[in-house]
Amino acid sequence: MFINIHTHSEIFDAKVEIVSLSPGDPLKPNFHSRGIHPWKISKDYKKELEQLKVIANERRCIGIGECGLDKYSDVDYELQKTVFEEHIKLANELNKPLIVHCVKSHTELLAILKKMENKVPVIVHGFNNNLAIATTLLKAGIILSFGKALLNYESNAVESLRNSGRDKFFLETDDSDVSIKYIYKKAAEILFIDEEILQEQLKNNFRKIFKEEIL
Ligand SMILES: [Zn+2]
Repeated sequence: MFINIHTHSEIFDAKVEIVSLSPGDPLKPNFHSRGIHPWKISKDYKKELEQLKVIANERRCIGIGECGLDKYSDVDYELQKTVFEEHIKLANELNKPLIVHCVKSHTELLAILKKMENKVPVIVHGFNNNLAIATTLLKAGIILSFGKALLNYESNAVESLRNSGRDKFFLETDDSDVSIKYIYKKAAEILFIDEEILQEQLKNNFRKIFKEEIL
């Protein structure tokens, strides 16, 4: 059984695919998350946040995001922080995990989560940072999600995955066209474990974090 924790379109090659949607996107019958990506914060963001507060109640919306902070985004960084704080507030009200995009902002991420007294699980997606950053985030209870960077054995993602606890990570495709099945295969090789064991572990992680039963 494969679980794709973060994608931008339905691929239908996993039992669970969490498709990341904007507040205004049409409803999906399958699991998804909702949020405003830090690249896509427009001047209408207040209206979009109001929309998000309503639509994120949907049963199949199991996470808030993709949201977060990105120093390379054209959007004003202070505005990104304001919008991200609204996502954290909503996630805590609805008790749904946050799926976070974080670029050059790890210190700010931890500070903002603390300031907002965040209580819900936080998944930093597309993780490909060095071990020092991974360790800092893991110590703060954050879960890492790894994607196509695992295909490059020299990447930081490989080293960080090896040092993440088994119950502290997920796998994803994001917007790449690599199959989640291939990412599982690579992750199992990196961890020197059987693929079935990896599948079982990530199923348990999903159950624990998202409080969803999957068969
Ligand atoms: Zn994404």
